[in-house]
Amino acid sequence: MALVGCGGFIGSHLLSAILERTQWRVFGVDLDSYRIQEHLSNDRFEFVCADLSEPSVVKRIAQYPVVVNLAAICTPSRYMAEAATVIRSNYDHPARLADACAKSGSWLIHFSTSEIYGKTSAESGLLDEDSTEITLGPVPASRWSYATAKLLTERYLFALENLCWTVVRPFNFVGPYMDFMPGVDGEGIPRVLANFSTALVRGETMKLVNGGLAKRSFTSVHDAVDFMFCLFRNGDQGIGQAFNIGNPDNELTIAELAGKMRSIYAGIKGVGVETVPQPVAVSGEEYYGKGYEDSLRRMPSVAKAERLLGFKAATPLEVVLKESLSWFVDHYQIAAE
Ligand code: UDP
Repeated sequence: MALVGCGGFIGSHLLSAILERTQWRVFGVDLDSYRIQEHLSNDRFEFVCADLSEPSVVKRIAQYPVVVNLAAICTPSRYMAEAATVIRSNYDHPARLADACAKSGSWLIHFSTSEIYGKTSAESGLLDEDSTEITLGPVPASRWSYATAKLLTERYLFALENLCWTVVRPFNFVGPYMDFMPGVDGEGIPRVLANFSTALVRGETMKLVNGGLAKRSFTSVHDAVDFMFCLFRNGDQGIGQAFNIGNPDNELTIAELAGKMRSIYAGIKGVGVETVPQPVAVSGEEYYGKGYEDSLRRMPSVAKAERLLGFKAATPLEVVLKESLSWFVDHYQIAAE
């Protein structure tokens, strides 16, 4: 199979699981390989350092019967600062890959995002793959550049004749290797878990955007990998479908998340929680820049993945937060000092 974005957060976990649990050969493509160094010498893994802007690479990928595309720019601060690049990465590139897969007959498993549900309100109920109405903010609110491009890609896959496709919509996947520590191995503002972890490790205050009232339901990346194996096993049920992958049992506000991470961090360091700085509120535009808007609640309906593929995410929030934060502390402690 071909794994595009094999060096990213989700891709690196999926690659490790495929090489460990199966005898499959993997053709991996990414611009970055630091998370997958241990696999570069595996003779069942071929790695090419490239992205989907190179037609010869797209052609090679589409020779594989199964293609998983995880490549994307998904750093929130870039949605405003580099909207055109974000749109190219999240629409032009995957559309080109979809064209090639339609021609070759490959099954394209495309990673989209829960962000396509757009500007949800605090009262939004379960987000259903096939019936929920979608509202993206006004054009000057460039927070929605990423979601708009991802949604257009989904519509393109849906519309393309002869393409065998499945769409995956991740709901706030978290785990080891998520995003980066700003100034160490990446620039800009990563997603909330990496941001809060960075603040804790550096002894700085966690920032609650607009008071941290927005809600998210966080999903372990290990559950996401298990979903992929359910999909590989039951391909006939998954083709032509979009799936939410999330864990509705793990919903909380961002302010509650900061509170939990503060006490988990104090536990890891063996210090009193009062010694860890309290979070502070900031406005969204002050923090991310002009054009920032938010989704206030993002709660997945997960019935379809359970019904068609027999999949249900199982990892409780406390477990995944402890694992992620312990990993972050070990991995970045020296860099932070
Ligand atoms: N957020 C926050 N502080 C941060 C980073 C993010 O309060 O340092 C908020 C953000 O405004 C949003 C939520 O946390 O309400 C989740 O943001 P993230 O960037 O992780 O991704 P999203 O779920 O919005 O795609």
